[in-house]
Amino acid sequence: MRIFTASFATETNTSSPVPTDRASFEMAFYAGPGQHPDTPTLCSAPMVVLRRRAREEGFELIEGTATWAEPGGLLQRKAYEDLRDEILDQLTAAMPVDGVILGLHGAMVAQGYDDCEGDLLERIRAIVGPDILIASELDPHSHLTKKRVANADILAAFLEFPHTDFYERGEHVVDLALRTLRGEIKPVISTFDCRMIGVYPTSREPMRSYVDRMKALHGKDGILSVSLIHGFMAGDVPELGTQLMVVTDNEKAKGDALAEKLGMELFALRGTTAMPMLDTEAGLDATMAIVAQRPGKPVVVADVWDNPGGGVAGDGTLILNRIIERGIGNVAVATIWDPIAVTFCLAAGEGALIQLRFGGKAGPDGGAPIDARVEVLRAVEEGWQSFGKSRVTLGPAALIRLEGTDIDVILNTNRTQTFEPDIFSNIGIDPLSKDILLVKSTNHFHAGFEPVASEIIYIDAGAPYPSNPKKTDYRKLSREIWPRVENPFG
Ligand SMILES: [Zn+2]
Repeated sequence: MRIFTASFATETNTSSPVPTDRASFEMAFYAGPGQHPDTPTLCSAPMVVLRRRAREEGFELIEGTATWAEPGGLLQRKAYEDLRDEILDQLTAAMPVDGVILGLHGAMVAQGYDDCEGDLLERIRAIVGPDILIASELDPHSHLTKKRVANADILAAFLEFPHTDFYERGEHVVDLALRTLRGEIKPVISTFDCRMIGVYPTSREPMRSYVDRMKALHGKDGILSVSLIHGFMAGDVPELGTQLMVVTDNEKAKGDALAEKLGMELFALRGTTAMPMLDTEAGLDATMAIVAQRPGKPVVVADVWDNPGGGVAGDGTLILNRIIERGIGNVAVATIWDPIAVTFCLAAGEGALIQLRFGGKAGPDGGAPIDARVEVLRAVEEGWQSFGKSRVTLGPAALIRLEGTDIDVILNTNRTQTFEPDIFSNIGIDPLSKDILLVKSTNHFHAGFEPVASEIIYIDAGAPYPSNPKKTDYRKLSREIWPRVENPFG
């Protein structure tokens, strides 16, 4: 038995000012055939699982390219076509194969391609023919297009948000694929369009119980897999939106009915699922009230919508500017993306006191740049943080302290959201020594930071991510969805 595997992933925020090109992939993560490390990345988990299963079960695994770009703006057409064709050429050279198992994200949009993953799967289907198994793991923050469903036999997304289960779900996809190839099951995909878009963190109710119910359905009564595709509201494409997906063992009608039932249960929860967020002033007031009680652990403040994980630049200053103006101290910030400022810090060297402009440079939405005299506490060729079992690079990075304050800011070159507290300790800040940790992340920071936080405050600074679907000027979205209309089923 011969299986081909590859991974090609990013999440495209079509309103972001940061274009995505081949260098964006090479900087974030790029592994040629056979070069994938032993640890999985978010979207390449099936490849690592497959290596182990190939060793244990004695099938032949042919590895193609695995690559990931930090979420950003529209992907350049040539970069998309070159990386796509690289994988298609590897597959053609590997033929004949019995199965193709991929690690995709599902929200990639390129110039001229609203549905990159659908395009890729359709081309793979054309190469392997109708009878060869095609399976993929997906991120739930993706677009589940009809073209993808038509060209795949098995699709399953991570269930958890934060995505703490990406490896488990990779194992799940590989397991279903191998059972199919052994003739044990005949997977059939059912979908239901919930005609809505929202934010569905599973770290809190009501989504915690909802996802637990989905998990309990697995493996029973002909139900092979259940996924909730959250959708990705910053990707303006025709099929944007939340969908339920069920994979059954050749029981299409049962799958359709379950997808609709679960989908309408979710629709009934609309507007209740997101974490409670405060505006900047109320959020800082709440933060200072907790700090005044000297809780012994820092308050973690999430700048929810300056999250590079959602494709924005990550150089926003809206909250930090207010922290400075309000005279709030003993703060550490991770991170502000500013490659130019990092270059200046590296050139000035550790210990230097310099006049620096940082942040707010990619566009007008994230706030104004900050001009300050700063001390360069650290300047390193590579900063990094953990994300579960993965290592996430910050690229060249610097730690600066604003003169006359105890506000410390990590500046990075490789855009990334904040995942774990070691983003601070790796560059020399003890996170527990600070009253306030300001992080750039919507929810992925939660698993890592909850143990070190006295409390977590979510601040909606109103920008730069298009977080209000009622106001977003969608040009391609092709149907009515909640909350743009009250009842799209009516
Ligand atoms: Zn996601």
